[in-house]
Amino acid sequence: MAEMTPSELARETLKRLAMRRIPPTPDNYRMLYHEIAGTQIAEAFPERALKALANALPRTTPEQMRYYRQIDAAIGEANWEALKTALVELMNKSAAPAANWGVLIRDLLSQYEARHVGFTPAKKRETLEHVLSASGSNDTLFGRLQSLVRGWGQGGSEEASNLAGAPAMVEAAAPIVAGAMNPELQELLAQIIDNTLSVLLADSPDLTKEAAALSAEIRAAQTAEQIAAFTSRLKKFSYRLQFAAEDQAELKTALLHLLNLIIENISELVIDDQWVHGQVAMVRELLGQPMNLRQLDDVERRMKDLIYKQSALKKNLSDAQQRLKDMLTTFVDRLADFASTTGEFHDRIGVCAEKVSKAKDIGDLSDVLDVVMQETRAVQLAAQRSRDELNAMRNRVREVEQEVARLQEELAQTSEMVRIDPLTGVLNRKGMDEALEREVARARRRHTPTCLAMLDIDNFKKLNDTYGHDVGDQALVHLAQVVRETLRPQDTLARFGGEEFVIVLAETRIDDGIQAMVRVQRELTRKFFLHQNEKLLITFSCGVAELGDHEEPADAIKRADSAMYLAKRAGKNRVVTA
Ligand code: GH3
Ligand code: MG
Ligand code: MG
Repeated sequence: MAEMTPSELARETLKRLAMRRIPPTPDNYRMLYHEIAGTQIAEAFPERALKALANALPRTTPEQMRYYRQIDAAIGEANWEALKTALVELMNKSAAPAANWGVLIRDLLSQYEARHVGFTPAKKRETLEHVLSASGSNDTLFGRLQSLVRGWGQGGSEEASNLAGAPAMVEAAAPIVAGAMNPELQELLAQIIDNTLSVLLADSPDLTKEAAALSAEIRAAQTAEQIAAFTSRLKKFSYRLQFAAEDQAELKTALLHLLNLIIENISELVIDDQWVHGQVAMVRELLGQPMNLRQLDDVERRMKDLIYKQSALKKNLSDAQQRLKDMLTTFVDRLADFASTTGEFHDRIGVCAEKVSKAKDIGDLSDVLDVVMQETRAVQLAAQRSRDELNAMRNRVREVEQEVARLQEELAQTSEMVRIDPLTGVLNRKGMDEALEREVARARRRHTPTCLAMLDIDNFKKLNDTYGHDVGDQALVHLAQVVRETLRPQDTLARFGGEEFVIVLAETRIDDGIQAMVRVQRELTRKFFLHQNEKLLITFSCGVAELGDHEEPADAIKRADSAMYLAKRAGKNRVVTA
């Protein structure tokens, strides 16, 4: 049978339904359709039914929540295989032993009847009644009873103690042993909750409160019951923590996504400015890498500079545009005036010419001449006015042009104020001061070493003199790029001025600092600077200083600078330790 189009198939299906007198239900239609088309009946994925089923699953613990998500995702993707895996896992999980009350009761009875140091039968009854009377779910009760039994068991049997032969001492030590936890561990736990969790939970007042209560509880806990109560409370808390952690991870992803979106939009909006586009590209590149705090700092700094420069640019350019537009409007108005004046002039001059040809006497002619004279004068005046206005306009355009040039110059100066060197794209001095302050604070907090390197290009003046200032500029850009590519992302490069650069090497001892700079030197001989197919070798002299424990960063930079001068004096193209 020739291939049928879908509409032919549909028509044929309806025809056969009628011919065979089959009730026209959707199922029958589908069956017949596939029979005619010779295709398999694709079983539709029962998404709705399965979703309803998934929604009926319990979702109280994080674990249940995880299974629910796994199943829900499989349904969302119409993925039978993934659904099967999730369900099998869930079943295996639920087959795991649940709270076994039988075993617990047997243990409870045997430990209740056994004799333990520090637990008289009366005391045992008292604690048991206390646990039983405390309200709580079955699981809580199970957990508490379990720790109670464990506590008694760990108390040690009386016979064993008597054998040890020192009942009085054992008696005194008993409460601690019975507590089933040691005070140091309790304090440590309390500190973790106080110092770490409270910071992580700053956004959740409820959880912060619960954390404070928990740390107080563990500090005060002395008996086995108190530890058991704490344990069960901590367990519940850990569920909530897990949820909070998942929320925070999602929040982070969403924020990064948002940030990316904003940056994308900025790059769409910007006026064509090479610097701005370069910065946007760099921010996006930074965001594409795995996040850490240092990178976020970097992104923030670049974003601030971007926003600052962009808003300045936009405002000034739109002002200048508005002024040009105003002038153009005035000019067109004047031009229209002028054109209509000359149009009328031509008309009237035409009339005058006719009058002249028809003039019969000198009297008639002088009348016409008066009109011509008047008209000419009017046109002359209009022309004069237009010329004056044109001149004024030209002057004003020149002023605006100067204004635009001045604004551009000012913008270049504001880039000084911001933190990035416009030529090389690395930090400028101000940016370096800030980065250095942050880096040093971080290093002192973590007790890690920091190296500072001062680098000065050799014979740069000669390069400028031989090839021109622009080539010198390109050489600076090239050097900055090679340094950046060679060093680690956590190292900071800044243009200190002219052809001098400072590098902050984080978490680096002096030996490694020297090695890093020698590596840059070697890279420069491999990635040489090309000017009109001529390979120009750029070399530099460098001094490296390790920041002292209590040394001001500026002093370490001075030491690196002195070492750099030693390198110059020793013949350049070398790295010297301060
Ligand atoms: P040395 O090996 O002793 O360092 O000699 P040098 O020629 O590199 O050093 P000197 O300090 O004598 O000259 C530095 C030159 O760098 C002078 C200045 O014109 C040039 N320079 C400074 N800033 C820039 C810049 O932004 N672009 C260019 N093209 N040249 C610059
Ligand atoms: Mg210099
Ligand atoms: Mg130099």
